[in-house]
Formats: sequence, structure tokens, C-alpha cells
Amino acid sequence: MTQEFCIVCGAPPPVYEGRMCEHCLRSRTELSLIPDRLQQSRCSKCKLHQVGKGWSDVGQLEIAEQRVRENLVILQDAEDVDVSLSVEPIDDRTTRIHIHVSANYQRLPFEDTHETLLQTSDVVCQTCSRKDGSYFEAEFQIRSTGRRLDSRELASIRATLDEMILDSADDPMFFVTNEGPVQGGWDLQLGSKSMARMWSRKLINRFGGTSKETSTVIGVKDGAEVTRLTLSYRKPAFSIGDVMRHREENWVVVGWQKDGPILGSMKGNKRTGRTWRDMQKSSVICSVSDQIAVQILDKDGSAADVMIPDEWKLTTVALPFDYDGEDRLTIGQIDHTWTAIPYTSSRVEKNE
Ligand SMILES: [Zn+2]
Ligand SMILES: [Zn+2]
Repeated sequence: MTQEFCIVCGAPPPVYEGRMCEHCLRSRTELSLIPDRLQQSRCSKCKLHQVGKGWSDVGQLEIAEQRVRENLVILQDAEDVDVSLSVEPIDDRTTRIHIHVSANYQRLPFEDTHETLLQTSDVVCQTCSRKDGSYFEAEFQIRSTGRRLDSRELASIRATLDEMILDSADDPMFFVTNEGPVQGGWDLQLGSKSMARMWSRKLINRFGGTSKETSTVIGVKDGAEVTRLTLSYRKPAFSIGDVMRHREENWVVVGWQKDGPILGSMKGNKRTGRTWRDMQKSSVICSVSDQIAVQILDKDGSAADVMIPDEWKLTTVALPFDYDGEDRLTIGQIDHTWTAIPYTSSRVEKNE
């Protein structure tokens, strides 16, 4: 085994990579490098940071880590590399990042430290520029079958969109560009087609009804047709909980199936599906919004005494067939007679 001396200073062994002693190796080796200044872009409207091709909603430390990952160059053969950093905000657009790197190289421990200034410039992200530029992919129309929607119904329909946008906060295309009342309903312009389709599915699940899609070509981009979706949602003329006159019998709307309501018999536990078409000649005889919950004052096996609020009148009503011992009943006027409405326990969640 030959005894090698340092080719730079002639020091005795051991020598390392490049036949240098430890001292000469260290003075000629940079473990890591990073520019003194880093630049990044941040949307001046939504404050998201540009990361690669996307936009990211992260805190100051995470974005600093991201920029260090993108810019820090570490000696290729270094092993057991450990990078730690801390951030020191200077002003709204400038952060000083302190970086400490340690690693093993040639089985010798190395470390170095850096300071870099992260400077932020304002841009406007694609989503914000689309919102500003009245961009929309889908036109959404809310209507009802054969009647006007009242403001209370519109408000409860509209509230489900706010819920959906909150639940989908990470989809930047879930936004409303424009909206307002139109004859018999409400129109909205929505940021994306998937948003329109998702909302329509939610509305059908919750309020029943149907939807219809049409697509219009509005231009050509990169050789592909650009289309706009029009989605028309029709709320049925009745809601869950409404009592309906259908084929000379009274029924409660208890749910929705694919092409119509599920009706529950007033008389006993019998449920049946009907199509929208089947319901065309049926009418609401006691809307859920006109029904009230009242306290039972006295009862026997088949009837209960209840007080009608506002009227201060004691009335006896027959207990509903599904009465389960509760101390309250839901009642409504059917043919001018106060009547207890069945199927109320299963719908509590749905209407409120
Ligand atoms: Zn040397
Ligand atoms: Zn933005």
C-alpha cells in the first residue's frame, strides 16, 4: 500500500478525494450553494403563491422551505444531508431565510450556513383574473315546475351552493361570477362545468326535481371547441313533508327516487314511488311550511289534545299511524281540519 501525500501541501496521510489532506479538501469544497436573493410570485388578490404550474396556499415557513428546496444545490456525493431553516420577516414582500446544512462527505462531517433574501412580487393568478374578467363556464338556471319560486325557497336552494363552495375550497374554479333574479327563478354564472353538475346533483338529492344540460360552442382554442354549459334545474312543485292529493287519496312526500317522489300513505305504513308525470294532476293540500309542531296536552290510545298556537284553541287530533310516544306532534290543516301528519321523524334533518 503506497503512502500518499497531499498533492497540494504535501501533508502526510490520510488523504481523501483528489489526493488532498483534510484541510485542503475542506478549503476547496463547498457543501451547498444558494443564491443571495430568491424571487417568487404571489397573487395580489387571493395571496396564493405560485409553485410550479399551480398556486399554493401555504404559510411563510412552508413557502420558504419550498423555495429552498427549489434553489439549494448540495454537493452530489454528500451523504446524510440535513437542512434546517428559519425565517425572519423583513416586510410584507421580503423574508430573510437562514439555512443550516450538514452532511457527511468522504466520511468527514461538513456543515455550512447561508442567508438568502426571499423577495415577493405581485401578480394576478389565473383564477382571480378569470373572476375579474367575468369568466364563466356554466350558466345555471333555477326554476320550478309550473309556478314561481318564492324567496324562502330560493334562499334555501342558494345556501346549498355556499356550503358546496366551502367544502370544495381547494378547487379554484368553484366561484360565482354573476347571479340574479329572473322571471320565475334565479340565474347564475359559475366558474366551472363540474361545479354546475355537482350542484345540480346535490339539489336533486335534496329537493327532488330534474335537470337538463345543453352545450353551446362559444369559440375555438388550440384547435379544440370551447363550449359553455347551460344547466337548467327544475324544482318540483312540492317538497318533502308536503301533503298531496294524489288519485283521490292523501299522501306525504317522504323522499325522492330517480324520476319522481316517494309517497307515504297518510293511513298506514305504505310507501310508493311515482314519476314526475304521475304527479302532474296532483296538488299540494298542506305545504310543509304551513305545518306546525305542537305540544301534546293530553292523550289516549288514538287521539291527543293539542293547543293551536295563535288561536289559543284546544283541538283533538287523531294520532298519526306512526306515533311513537313523543310529547310533540306535527299538525297541519287538511280540508279546514287540523290533522296530525305522519313521517315527521324521518324528515327533521332534511328540511332544516
Ligand atoms: Zn494539504
Ligand atoms: Zn388569485
